Amino acid sequence: MELRAVQRQYGKGSRAVHALRGIDLALPRGSFTAVMGPSGSGKSTFLQCAAGLDRPTSGSVRLGGTELTGLSENKLTVLRRTRLGFVFQAFNLLPSLTVEQNVLLPMRLAGRRPDRRRAAEVLAQVGLGDKGGRRPSELSGGQQQRVALARALVTMPEVVFADEPTGALDTTTAAEVLALLRSAVDSLGATVVMVTHDPVAAAYADRVLFLADGAIVDSLSQGDPAAIAARMSTLTSPNSAPNASPAAPWQHHGIPTRTAV
Ligand code: ADP
Repeated sequence: MELRAVQRQYGKGSRAVHALRGIDLALPRGSFTAVMGPSGSGKSTFLQCAAGLDRPTSGSVRLGGTELTGLSENKLTVLRRTRLGFVFQAFNLLPSLTVEQNVLLPMRLAGRRPDRRRAAEVLAQVGLGDKGGRRPSELSGGQQQRVALARALVTMPEVVFADEPTGALDTTTAAEVLALLRSAVDSLGATVVMVTHDPVAAAYADRVLFLADGAIVDSLSQGDPAAIAARMSTLTSPNSAPNASPAAPWQHHGIPTRTAV
């Protein structure tokens, strides 16, 4: 996946909010990328533009050979269902369906024949091979997020987008989910992009991108949680409203405001 000069502006004229100010980014196949940044820095907008849920004001988003920005809503929906996977903070499982039916949902939505052997395989990969017949309410939070991960992986998507996947989990179950994301990358060759507030979670990624005021201002590879937390703390300024400060806090640290990664 490749983003080139991606800008997203909300509103016009003096009221315009520049949520993304020119994102250049390549996500290689089989890589695990974390995205961090203060509240209002553009993380959600980035994820939505990359995943074809929102349209950039300008710039290019390519998945394999496909340019997303020109696609119709219908084609984007098909692309999301067949070529992307999603994991959310709140799991977003359907309570009336069994675990197996939840995992098979992306196949049904894509109009494919539900492949129960594939569901069993991917449930086994997340350690829930014996839970296919349960309802989500019968599982713990960590188990529910593992079902969501199985659902995200079932179609072998080209990119998995994870939005605060451990935000609702305790430390131990968060570590289990992160280890599964890591092994999806290492063993299955998945490509994962994860937005997180948690430096410990971000340290599972190959690379951490730091967003501030709509731009990638830095990246760390193979960072440890302490280094990631230290980098984050230089971006967080409780006294400055997002997009309101003419001299943003990171500009005092000699960090370029726009970094091609
Ligand atoms: P984050 O996920 O890092 O908190 P967002 O991507 O949600 O950041 O927001 C980036 C900026 O864009 C913020 O200033 C936010 O207020 C603004 N923004 C986000 N969505 C909208 C919208 N629908 N309309 C107007 N402004 C928006």
